[in-house]
Amino acid sequence: MKHHPPSASEAKQMDTTCIFCKIAAGQIPVKTVLEEPDLVAFHDLNAQAPVHVLVIPREHIANLAAATSEHEGLLGRLLLAASLVAAETGVRDSGFRVVINAGPDGGQSVDHLHLHVLGGRSLGWPPG
Ligand code: AMP
Repeated sequence: MKHHPPSASEAKQMDTTCIFCKIAAGQIPVKTVLEEPDLVAFHDLNAQAPVHVLVIPREHIANLAAATSEHEGLLGRLLLAASLVAAETGVRDSGFRVVINAGPDGGQSVDHLHLHVLGGRSLGWPPG
């Protein structure tokens, strides 16, 4: 899929030590599902379900707890992108789950806000 290079303002928001910032900037290759001006969706390297896609903002936001009212529109677009990813990957009708891990107890391992889109099998509840 076509890659949009980051604009000057997007590049300014990049954390050069962050792996997801590097993915958003096209510096680390991923299997892209969706690219929009302010977000990217790509397949998780360590898939936990037949469909496991991550949706990330291009802007570096450490996690959901670090988001502010300034990010209200962006947060909405990230959720809509997750729904689009479900459609694109064929799980819209079978069902899917969108997960945001935040902080140590949330199981967050990459400190750049991301939504997991999981589907393609029946997912257990409650999560471990
Ligand atoms: P979390 O544990 O919620 O922070 O999720 C981070 C996710 O990023 C994990 O599911 C990892 O498998 C995934 N991940 C880490 N590095 C990469 C990468 N280079 N490409 C794709 N997925 C990655």
